[in-house]
Amino acid sequence: MSVQRIARTATVIASVAYLFSLVPGFRAGPDTSTVWDVGVYAAVPLLAAVSCFARGLRGRRDRAAWLSIGAGLTSYAAGTLVFNAVLLPAGDPPYPSVADGLWLALYPCTIIAVGILVRTRMSRGFGAAIWLDSLVAGLGLASLFASFVFPSLADGTTSSDAEIVVNFAYPVLDLALVITAVGAVTMLGAWRDRTWLLLGAGFLAYAFADSWYLVQLADETYRPGSLVDFGYLAAATLVALAGRDRSDEAPEAARFEPQSPSFAVPGAFALLAIGVLTAHTHPGGMAVAVVLAVGALTAAWIRTALTVREVVALSDSRRQARTDALTGLPNRRAFYEVLEVAEKRPAGTAPFVASIVLADLDRFQEINNAVGHQLGDQLLCKVSQRFAALVPGGGMIARLGGDEFALFVPGLRAAQAAELSRTLLGALDDPFWIKDLSLHLTASIGITELGAGTQISHALAKADLAMYRAKAAHTGCEIYDDGRDGDAWDRLSIGEDLREALYGGQGLTVEFQPICQLPELTPTGVEALVRWTHPVRGRVRPDQFLPLAEKAGLMSAVTRTVLDQSLDEARRLRDRGWELSVSVNLSASDLLDDNLLQIVELALAERDLPGRALRIEITESLLVDSGAGAVERLFQLRALGVDLAVDDYGTGYSCLAYLHDLPVSYLKVDRSFVNRMLEDERTALIVASTIEMAHGLGLRVVAEGLETPEQQEWLSAHGCDLVQGFLLSKPVPPDQLYPWLAERARAVSSTIPVYP
Ligand code: C2E
Ligand code: MG
Ligand code: MG
Repeated sequence: MSVQRIARTATVIASVAYLFSLVPGFRAGPDTSTVWDVGVYAAVPLLAAVSCFARGLRGRRDRAAWLSIGAGLTSYAAGTLVFNAVLLPAGDPPYPSVADGLWLALYPCTIIAVGILVRTRMSRGFGAAIWLDSLVAGLGLASLFASFVFPSLADGTTSSDAEIVVNFAYPVLDLALVITAVGAVTMLGAWRDRTWLLLGAGFLAYAFADSWYLVQLADETYRPGSLVDFGYLAAATLVALAGRDRSDEAPEAARFEPQSPSFAVPGAFALLAIGVLTAHTHPGGMAVAVVLAVGALTAAWIRTALTVREVVALSDSRRQARTDALTGLPNRRAFYEVLEVAEKRPAGTAPFVASIVLADLDRFQEINNAVGHQLGDQLLCKVSQRFAALVPGGGMIARLGGDEFALFVPGLRAAQAAELSRTLLGALDDPFWIKDLSLHLTASIGITELGAGTQISHALAKADLAMYRAKAAHTGCEIYDDGRDGDAWDRLSIGEDLREALYGGQGLTVEFQPICQLPELTPTGVEALVRWTHPVRGRVRPDQFLPLAEKAGLMSAVTRTVLDQSLDEARRLRDRGWELSVSVNLSASDLLDDNLLQIVELALAERDLPGRALRIEITESLLVDSGAGAVERLFQLRALGVDLAVDDYGTGYSCLAYLHDLPVSYLKVDRSFVNRMLEDERTALIVASTIEMAHGLGLRVVAEGLETPEQQEWLSAHGCDLVQGFLLSKPVPPDQLYPWLAERARAVSSTIPVYP
């Protein structure tokens, strides 16, 4: 038996025993007994505190909240001990006393706890609003009392200020607590949640006992060891019982559908109680106080009701944002939220299994086009109704968009999900009647099982892959399988990892490869080449990940990173007196990017670099394929002073004449030609004539992939202007580039290179 359970049981037994002790004739001796009114009376809140501490220490969930309540109850128990064991026996205890301080500490602790409990249950953000509002209501009330009511109260009575403050502190804080709890329950729609009901009942019990006590005090009918005292014990016991929690076991799937606020009953009750109380505590001449108290309470009541209305309206719009307008099913966002909640399950909870079932209608686009969108929509609604009727309890179905539906079913293994899928497919067997049309639909379903360790955020994509396999093979339903879908998954996941690398800060780096002028091999520039080291796979080649980046819409982010790092390097080179141009490769989507020009211009200006510090390389095929917009962009770049180079020349089908109309100044002969030119006469002929024709058009020629001194000699003899290749240097990180350049400069001459 756990500590919490023992403490909880003991709390209940002790408070019930205390209740029995109040039966007339039960207690031997005088009315007030040390055993009952000191021992048992302090033991109940103390045991309740132990139970809350144990609850807090047991799991991570709600830990702070229960520790806070535990601390509050401990302080409360200490107050009881001090008062009943020390102050009372000493005779005529002061009011207020230390005990009041200890008792009152229960309130902030509990209000904080409710705030925490609400925050962890609401999806992002709402918790703070409601608990702040409750706090504002409580504090507002208290200050109102302090500034208006207390002086006038003090005028007409012999009570001290402190006495009045403390007198009011109890009911005001009780009220704040009840408002907070009712607000929380309303917000969470947790009217059937045992934890909240017990907590709320406990708070009400405190409010009730305090009111009753103060009434008795004013009537001078209170005596220790009466039923009022049991009220406090009942309150502590209810709070301890609220700590019994079984909700850890299942992930909470979007269970916070807000209910309409019903503040009337508790609000009216609180109002009545405080009104009566105020009248009773300070009889005679206190009409102003009563009016003010009731007025302040009304204000707080309205404020809280307003807050709740606002928040409910807000959560209503959130609900709408999570609902698919056409079918009324949860939408993609709602589905992701449920997955997120499942992913954030606290560690160490019971093993978790669930399946995602993804259904996509076959040929729906064709049907939609044939029958028209309106009827297509009706069809989707009917499909969603048939599917929704088959979702097992605890599961959810969402429309992800178009003709795609997804089910999330906790507790379901893949094999069971396959059975469910066949039922779903069976639900489509009967034709759909729309107007006078009878339509037959089929669907393809992909399944993925989530177990411990599965990254849930990837699950939907995996179900998607399985669904595509089902669609391609016309099998109806397939379960994701690493063996069969692994390759496709790899490609997808690399894309995701790249996004992470780009936006998560671990980033991409750039290496630089020198470009030198023939015949002396004077360095005139460097080419920036992007590098990515994947956390698991290690280095991924640019030709592997760049196409993925292009597909995933990440290319402009890649280009920006490369451009920034390249120009940073250009700046550093220039600061050392090296006026080398840095070549940056652009891709297809860069040329379509309206912001490109502005980005380049800004990047140069930020570093106070002239346009010719940058060279842009565009592959030949890209030049040929891109439209007029791209060509215009090239002219604009050229106008900034940026040089343009045609990369991988010879691999596409462009002709030199075409290049003549473009603002290009460099031609980079592809390395496949340089590689073969000494072995293959035809290749040599192509390279030689390319150099000649390019010169005729006013272009300078760069030979890529220079690997041997023989190639260098040949190129030099045929008038090639520049070379780049492993013979000179591999692409290297900046810290290796500088020694290489210094070495090269010493070898060629003592003159400082300038931009060509
Ligand atoms: P590229 O622009 O033609 O770059 C030259 C490629 O040839 C580089 O490969 C370089 O490492 C390699 N190389 C240089 N000298 C030699 C040599 O002597 N022998 C051999 N066998 N190879 C040599 P890398 O770095 O793998 O880049 C491949 C391609 O990826 C680049 O071809 C370029 O088209 C693209 N790329 C690289 N970085 C970027 C970038 O930042 N943005 C864009 N859009 N594309 C990039
Ligand atoms: Mg290049
Ligand atoms: Mg190239």
